[in-house]
Amino acid sequence: FMNQQSPPPAPAPTITLQVELGERSYPIEIGPSLLNDRERIARLIIGKQVAVVTNTTVAPLYLQGFSQALKDAGKSVLEIILPDGEEEKNWASLMQIFDRLLSAKCGRKTTLIALGGGVIGDLTGFAASAYMRGVPFVQIPTTLLAQVDSSVGGKTGINHPLGKNMIGAFYQPQAVIADTMTLHSLPERELSAGLAEVIKYGAVIDAEFFKWIESNIGKLMARDNVALAYAIRRSCELKADVVRQDEREGGLRAILNFGHTFGHAIESGLGYGKWLHGEAVGCGMVMAADLSHRLGHISAVDKERVSALVRAAGLPTEAPNLGAQRWLELMQVDKKNEDGQIKFILMNPLGGHLVTGVPQEALLATLQQLASG
Ligand code: NAD
Ligand code: MG
Repeated sequence: FMNQQSPPPAPAPTITLQVELGERSYPIEIGPSLLNDRERIARLIIGKQVAVVTNTTVAPLYLQGFSQALKDAGKSVLEIILPDGEEEKNWASLMQIFDRLLSAKCGRKTTLIALGGGVIGDLTGFAASAYMRGVPFVQIPTTLLAQVDSSVGGKTGINHPLGKNMIGAFYQPQAVIADTMTLHSLPERELSAGLAEVIKYGAVIDAEFFKWIESNIGKLMARDNVALAYAIRRSCELKADVVRQDEREGGLRAILNFGHTFGHAIESGLGYGKWLHGEAVGCGMVMAADLSHRLGHISAVDKERVSALVRAAGLPTEAPNLGAQRWLELMQVDKKNEDGQIKFILMNPLGGHLVTGVPQEALLATLQQLASG
């Protein structure tokens, strides 16, 4: 027994969690290399005819292997490859999906599968909600943001020239399959952008999770499969729990917009696309933490923990100087507002939340502190 060798490390196990929405409940499965797992695919994707919607960036990376697994599972596969980009989340792309489905005589039992980031997920989900008045839909999110945020909750849709995400539907998938291996090809900026939403859940819902992210941010940045799978699992659990309580965004779901009031102002103030959404949210969380501290809801130490974690996730912590007046204008158009008063999601305390209007002096002080460089 002297030369007994330690066994190789066990592969990361697959995590399954169930989103409880009555008869619209569905599983989320998280783990490495799920895309090529024929048995899992056969179990989660019902029906013989499937249409995979993806884009020109993701297709060369993952489409061939995934299509093969589908065929091995006995499926007949239609591939729909769209151009890449937020600006393609539009009516023309939607029509392209319908054109291909109708030309191929796809019927009501065709399952639409989204293979890609949030753009492909939102577009494909909306197509599934409308094609033949609704066909089965499966999400295979391949960005961290899509795995922790956009694939959970049932919001689907497209952009209109006059506004982002203005046309859409609530439509739940039959399953979400999050393959952590796909995150290894993600550009660094996109990984960080996804981490912003992960940090968000900790900051306003779960202090323990926030602490876990602080301890594991190095592993997450290094794309350790086990750490990623846990971060995705906990994020999905927390989001699913909020969605379960408020599926149609009546109230509680607003807390998922922590950091987003400031973030949206950055995105539209600089022009969409300059900063990634997650980068703007990262910086927005630092600003919201500063405001929470000014109003006495979190300690100076906790405020500092937020900016340190955002920085460690590779995200910006200093906002662009748009001028106080412009900042206020941009924040006034936020969807959460009522009667012209800007509503903020504050930390109260770390791991908890409060949705409220704030005194203008405090807001101006935060802008002065973080957006005047
Ligand atoms: P995205 O879909 O544009 O993906 C980002 C980039 O990464 C794209 O260029 C994409 O082609 C590429 N990519 C995707 N997977 C890859 C991989 N594995 N390896 C290499 N490159 C890969 O952006 P996103 O951040 O995933 O999603 C943003 C979209 O999600 C926005 O349209 C937003 O409105 C939407 N969204 C929706 C919800 C919702 O609840 N439905 C929530 C949040 C965001
Ligand atoms: Mg967001």
